[in-house]
Amino acid sequence: MSASDRGELLRAPLFHTPRNPFLQARALESHWDGGLLIRAGRIAASGDFETIRAANPDATTTDLRGGVLLPGLIDTHIHFPQLRVLGGLGRTLLDWLEECALPEEARMADVSYARQIAGGFVHALASHGTTTALVFGAHFAAATAALFEMGAKSGLRIVSGMVLSDRQLRPELHQTPDSAYRDSSDLIRCFHGRGRLLYAVTPRFALSTSESMLEVCQTLRREHEGLRFQTHLNENVREIEEVAGLFPWAPDYLAVYERFGLGGRGAVMAHNVHPTQSEIERLAAGGTAVAHCPCSNAALGSGLFGLKRHVEAGVRVALGTDVGGGTGFGILKEALQAYLLQRIAPDGALLDAGQMLYLATRAGAEALGLEEEIGDFQPGKAADIVYIKPPVDAPLSAVLERAETPEQALAAIFTLAGAESIREVRVEGTIVYK
Ligand SMILES: [Zn+2]
Repeated sequence: MSASDRGELLRAPLFHTPRNPFLQARALESHWDGGLLIRAGRIAASGDFETIRAANPDATTTDLRGGVLLPGLIDTHIHFPQLRVLGGLGRTLLDWLEECALPEEARMADVSYARQIAGGFVHALASHGTTTALVFGAHFAAATAALFEMGAKSGLRIVSGMVLSDRQLRPELHQTPDSAYRDSSDLIRCFHGRGRLLYAVTPRFALSTSESMLEVCQTLRREHEGLRFQTHLNENVREIEEVAGLFPWAPDYLAVYERFGLGGRGAVMAHNVHPTQSEIERLAAGGTAVAHCPCSNAALGSGLFGLKRHVEAGVRVALGTDVGGGTGFGILKEALQAYLLQRIAPDGALLDAGQMLYLATRAGAEALGLEEEIGDFQPGKAADIVYIKPPVDAPLSAVLERAETPEQALAAIFTLAGAESIREVRVEGTIVYK
């Protein structure tokens, strides 16, 4: 047997949520002296180190004690062209788009500029422990292709698509439905299913897409197997009013997308801060997921997300950083912000560390229809792993030394771990960041 057949056994405390902790008790699995056996990029076993060691005496042990292992983090809402507009505080959604986001998005017409941003973008994902991301591409085909190419080079799982719009933005960001169809079809043929890349049909939001453009989205989804879908929904009160004015026939915002069949499994709608009860029920019934972006919701003053309402109705909810309306690339930080906002929201949920981990990992896999492949450490899944080990002089190191239970350690990681604590990231067993 070759060394890779025998496998590599990582030894460290490990945490994962193979079940949904919002629905099942004891969904968080933790192993204080944990073992994770990797063979040919897959997880061959996970559990207690000594047990796995005894069953696999030939495996090479890598001692990672002093840090902890989590499944690769999953970001279900982020905009690649907005890397450089992070920090544009003091505005609400529509003003922020106009003044901060759209001028920068227009710069993506220059493909060499886009390539440079794409390189920084995928590096930032990896350095924050994100192994899979559902990404809004650019309004330009070449810039979106640049993101896919950088994604392929990085080894990360990138699900993305060209952003489609034909009104209400800056004219240089608009396509015609015909050109949107042509460019999207080309990108799908080139990148969908190539390595770890997947294509997502991506109308920016109902406000900037005519009915003809939404029809193009519907056609693309019909013509190609396995495409994902992403857009925005019910983020901001003024946005919702304007959408109502543009689609007077629609009883609510979600109905605009529903008219064109734009929902269901593999569809992720960002925000949904101001839904009606009927919208929540229809999202649940259709299996459409919501990307909850609590840093963005707070930074743009969009509002408090009704996490309990969604979860109780059976809507899939995962986390998104919403760079650049959000505050950075950290999905761990996003989980903490979800916890904090739920603490002060009327009828907020009291999240525990297991629920936070689920939102940051497996929930994202479920939202993207990738739960058979990634999201936790069950044997057979891809070995997408984040190794967290804070610098020795960081407060997190002191807290972890003191932690008496796995739950305490995990809660401390969500509270204190930033990019400085992400020591190593692997996708399918291969190191993509160290
Ligand atoms: Zn967004």
